[in-house]
Amino acid sequence: MDATGELRTILERLLPREATPYQLHEPELGELEKARVMEALDEGFVSYAGRHVTLFEEALAKACGVTAAVAVVSGTAALHAMLLIEGIGRDDEVLCPALTFAATANAIVHSGATPHFVDSAVDDLGIDAERLEAYLGRIATLNDGRVVNRASGRCIAGIVPVHIFGHFGDMDALKRVADRWGLPILEDATEALGSIGCGHTPGSIGVSAALSFNGNKIVTTGGGGAILTNDTELAQRLKHITTTAKLPHPWRFVHDKVGYNYRLPNLNAALGLAQVERLGDFVGAKRRLAAAYIDAFADAAHWRPLREPQGCRSNYWLNAVLLPEPDMALLEAALQNVHAAGYKCRPCWTPMHQLEIYAGHPRDELPVAESLAARILCLPSSPRLASYLS
Ligand SMILES: *Cc1c(COP(=O)(O)O)cnc(C)c1O
Repeated sequence: MDATGELRTILERLLPREATPYQLHEPELGELEKARVMEALDEGFVSYAGRHVTLFEEALAKACGVTAAVAVVSGTAALHAMLLIEGIGRDDEVLCPALTFAATANAIVHSGATPHFVDSAVDDLGIDAERLEAYLGRIATLNDGRVVNRASGRCIAGIVPVHIFGHFGDMDALKRVADRWGLPILEDATEALGSIGCGHTPGSIGVSAALSFNGNKIVTTGGGGAILTNDTELAQRLKHITTTAKLPHPWRFVHDKVGYNYRLPNLNAALGLAQVERLGDFVGAKRRLAAAYIDAFADAAHWRPLREPQGCRSNYWLNAVLLPEPDMALLEAALQNVHAAGYKCRPCWTPMHQLEIYAGHPRDELPVAESLAARILCLPSSPRLASYLS
């Protein structure tokens, strides 16, 4: 059987045709969510003032084992605020993988800085730390504690790794490179709530980490995000700039910075609170689904399931299978075939440097990102799918 037929056969065997269509990731909403949102409505707090925002922040911090969480309107806003508070802006470059969702690079641009694309590791899709070290050695100079890109003259001011599909890259290796060059790590953990990467939860290895609660993420608030950190003073400053930088006072309007209105409304936080209470169940269901996919594709001739890296416990936000060789035409044909049958699989993202908006941005050579983009196919991964497994 060819790759296209094999994919469809395996999916149809695992997930019943009667329950199609299977979207890539659907939210799981029930009585608890209704009760929490009604609570917020009954109390009359729909906007940012309201106890659910605080409860949601406390629940997130506890779930991730960090000391503080700051709720904001989106994952992109979380990343933007993290970059700003680090003092990153014009004349800076920020390293990030080319193989990511556009929001990672967009947030860097919003801060005034320039995204600088680096390559990924083939096994865990994280930044390839060894390659990065060699690359920095070739292109950068340490000058008074500043990392200067000799070609552009700009400062390289930080690294934004992305925990793709909920998997952690080798964060210890990345931390060693970051420390050697004095660069802060700001984690894009938007896909990794509930994951543990070799002892690290989001926000515990970087200066801070961004979460997203968009409708397709593991926990949703409709739309929203949060910043996690173990630095409580930093959390206070983040809360401040995301709350229009208004100094607390019963009636006076004094703002000590040009701040942002990035506060998460209480109505959304109430929904998120219910969702976080169910995080353990979601991760459990998604890990059962992942085990079933790995089993179902174990003997496949054309597809290899992507597994969590050794020593890591992933939330398996998205399950993925890989072709042995890059073949965009074959990937497209396979997608067309399974879509027609109601299995709404997706490719990975177009690597950033191949988008017109980011062509010409500074970058390393990106053979792994380019190859993976033409090999990866993401599978339907909603928690509800675990209920169809025999
Ligand atoms: C979802 C996502 C974001 C952005 O989150 P929003 O809440 O949609 O702004 C950023 N980076 C990655 C890798 C994502 O998957």
